[in-house]
Amino acid sequence: MPEKIRIAIDGPAASGKSTTARLLAKKLGYLYIDTGAMYRAATLSVLRAGIDIHDEQAVVEHVKKIKISLKIIDGVQRTFLNGENVSGLIRTPEINQVISVISSYPGVRQVLIEQQRQLAREGGVVMDGRDIGTVVLPDAELKVFLVASLEERARRRQLDMERQGIQMDLEEIKKEIARRDELDSSRSAAPLKKAADARELDTTHLTIKQQVEIIYQWALEKIKS
Ligand code: C5P
Repeated sequence: MPEKIRIAIDGPAASGKSTTARLLAKKLGYLYIDTGAMYRAATLSVLRAGIDIHDEQAVVEHVKKIKISLKIIDGVQRTFLNGENVSGLIRTPEINQVISVISSYPGVRQVLIEQQRQLAREGGVVMDGRDIGTVVLPDAELKVFLVASLEERARRRQLDMERQGIQMDLEEIKKEIARRDELDSSRSAAPLKKAADARELDTTHLTIKQQVEIIYQWALEKIKS
């Protein structure tokens, strides 16, 4: 077992993956890779180019040409699209509305999965997404599947949006999250699914601090074993 392990964190929308993965990576001194941000940047680029999102071939061709990178600036991960910092532009209701269509295309996934594997090749990473434990890093040393009630996930998403100055109705958010989970789980290419060897953690009644601590202890067990 290498000392610098690879940790895969998967789960449905707004289950707390990104915050947990980011804080866990910080605690371990590991690299944090937010794969959702990569699908979001690809979606933004497709929308900006005015491509019909239902034209699979045109979408895939476009995604093959763009450059997405993740950089840590002042301790915060930022997402770049062809050199432009798009971190503030990728978490909008417009992107949420169409992202599951774009991420369902095998050609799009192939491009981004290749990049994700390259980023993880040295180990010492915490990667979050939907298919990390099942497809991207099937031999990750620790796999975690986060779940939380729909009500709680919607409440957390509403708070996130409020912090960005976006007001959204709780029922609307619930519908959007449930719709995205359904699309992400039912697609044929790398659907949202718990890996057979993943440890499940229900965060409904946990604080961020508690959930990070639990996974940190699981990681230490793996590193020591
Ligand atoms: O994690 P986040 O909510 O930012 O992900 C946004 C969307 O990106 C998901 O709803 C899903 O459609 C797509 N995604 C994916 N595979 C990943 C990460 C995200 O399909 N590994």
